[in-house]
Amino acid sequence: MLHGDVDGQTAMRRANLRRALQLILDAEGEETRAGIARATGLTAATASSLVAELIENRLVVDGARAASTGGKRATTLDVDPAHHLLLVLVLRRADADAALVALDGTAAHREGIAYTPAGRDAAIRDLVERVSERFGPRLLAASVQLPGATDGRIVLESVLLGWKDHPLAEQLEAALQVPVLLVNDVDAEAVAEQIAHRSDAIRRLFLHIGDGIGAAITVDGELTPGAPARVGEIGHVQVVFGDEAVACRCGQRGCLESAASAPAMLGEDFREGMDPDAFAGLVARADPGRLAHGAVALGRVVQLLGAMLDPDEIVIGGAAAGLGEDFLERVRAETRHAPRGTVAASLRAATPGIGAHVGAAQLALISALGVRWNAERFA
Ligand SMILES: [Zn+2]
Repeated sequence: MLHGDVDGQTAMRRANLRRALQLILDAEGEETRAGIARATGLTAATASSLVAELIENRLVVDGARAASTGGKRATTLDVDPAHHLLLVLVLRRADADAALVALDGTAAHREGIAYTPAGRDAAIRDLVERVSERFGPRLLAASVQLPGATDGRIVLESVLLGWKDHPLAEQLEAALQVPVLLVNDVDAEAVAEQIAHRSDAIRRLFLHIGDGIGAAITVDGELTPGAPARVGEIGHVQVVFGDEAVACRCGQRGCLESAASAPAMLGEDFREGMDPDAFAGLVARADPGRLAHGAVALGRVVQLLGAMLDPDEIVIGGAAAGLGEDFLERVRAETRHAPRGTVAASLRAATPGIGAHVGAAQLALISALGVRWNAERFA
């Protein structure tokens, strides 16, 4: 609607529509037509015409009367929370969630499914069909968050889901009739962290430790993808050697995931997205030796990545964010003596409390409309 390649005047008009919509999103119900004109340097007539088009497309609604600044009180504007929806599908090894997210960032509907590997594709197809039947006309775009490497269209490789060169976006677009963007789960989590925790840290290394392990790098809040979209696929790099190396599900031995993934540290009862009380129980019963082994393996990787990237901070996300300060302290202990010529970057757990789907929803919003939510909206 506001995106895509067009020429000349249309491109200028779309750019102005995006600027107006971003101002309305940022002001959270306080923006006015006059405010848009002031902020953009456009005439009042042009600002009004932009707003009229946004309202016509059901992206924006008139709100209350703004506080008087002398003359006639202006009408405030806000994004329309009641029409367009973004579908976020979060795929995991054994289950999936669908969230329908309105333009104001609130989840209008959520449902989850569980599956076995054999039943997975059919279960996902049923879920997508249900969503399409119920919400189809209101859907603006969809994003699919999954463990594995993707270029946005194709699952290049997912060890956890057993997919290689799988054209998932195309398949789902046929069912949903809206653009579908595939997003690596760690990238989505790093974007959510960027929304939840604004920081002066301009170069941030985000490490997800859950079922699998992956990394994402954000610079000034933007993801930095690798050339073939496989940046951060660090889970199956060997970091444990000799007798201490154990078999990894990828078939090799001593991979980072064989030592420091959540199942490796907490046992096979671990599930992504599991109930917090059940997770706390697993942590309480965890073998200290396995946790220490994981922390050592993770520390080695953190030290190497820190030396390579010189990040302002390193953030541990995923289930490991819930392992507590003791675990982080063990990882820090491994990195305390920074290699000569480097400085150990600060290490902290990811910010809790922001929904698992928010990062992927943000990426869907950017791809559909070219605008983004800010941190205050989810505060
Ligand atoms: Zn492996």
